[in-house]
Amino acid sequence: MVRKYDDFHKSVMVEEVLSYLITKKDGIYVDCTAGEGGHIKAILEFTDKMARIIGVDVDYEVLEIAEQRLKDLSDNVVLIKSSYKDIDMVLRGLGIDKVDGFLMDLGVSTFQLKGENRGFSFTKDEPLDMRMDNQAKKDAAYIVNNYSQEELRRIIFEYGEEKRFAHSISKSIVRNRPINTTQELVNAIRKGLPSTQVYERHRHFATKTFQALRIEVNEELKNIEETLAKFENFLKVGARVAVITFHSLEDRIVKNFFKNNEKYDFLTPKPILPTQEEIKNNPRSRSAKLRVAEYVGA
Ligand code: SAM
Repeated sequence: MVRKYDDFHKSVMVEEVLSYLITKKDGIYVDCTAGEGGHIKAILEFTDKMARIIGVDVDYEVLEIAEQRLKDLSDNVVLIKSSYKDIDMVLRGLGIDKVDGFLMDLGVSTFQLKGENRGFSFTKDEPLDMRMDNQAKKDAAYIVNNYSQEELRRIIFEYGEEKRFAHSISKSIVRNRPINTTQELVNAIRKGLPSTQVYERHRHFATKTFQALRIEVNEELKNIEETLAKFENFLKVGARVAVITFHSLEDRIVKNFFKNNEKYDFLTPKPILPTQEEIKNNPRSRSAKLRVAEYVGA
């Protein structure tokens, strides 16, 4: 595939991930959200290419980028298009019983935001898609045009954490149907907000609603919990799970999963945050939180 833009996704909290995740240089590590392969590349370099890495991503376009980026670096990387919720099938398919660590870096990759016709970005005008898996049946256009106002309100309220205006935005979406492009959705959101909110918000006024729809389209919250529960079947004692989240709902799921879980030593009851310097160099990292747990056995 021909690259459509030059700058790779900037991986978040790389140093912190390496220092917590890698317990053995020649271990087996699973990157459940391989994306453009940034963390995988860092793990290879950190382990002097001794690590064996399985990279999984549901988006075949980003996996192609990872493949190009990593192909000359090591023969020890296997990239597989799959949802992380099927990680058990992926590992069994490869004949792998136990691993030394799992990494999840949740959220969207730069390619998905900047790539053509993905529909994730409110700064572009393109079909309202937002599917990370292009084989998934439900896209964002389906949701905005078919869900009831109450369902839309709940999603925007819960997943977008758009507490005050979820009702008025959902009403405006229903009133402005059909909505088939990102800019049609931006306009419907604008009409559902008082003008002070449109012009004075710290972040773009459509951010929260777009986030909510992305989570719904990709069933992100449901998949995280299901996947965390599968890891223990594959972890060696002393192996680690590292998860980077980008909003409080995801972080809460991860925290609650590891808190009071006797099979894990929860190494970060207080999450690790990016440094000020990282936030300056990569503003997308500002809402990232890293949680890590060590498997202590059943
Ligand atoms: N760590 C990567 C890097 O350094 O380049 C970036 C990962 S990016 C923030 C998140 C990735 O998770 C996206 O590429 C997205 O397609 C992927 N993803 C989202 N949901 C997924 C799922 N259910 N299964 C597998 N990958 C998923």
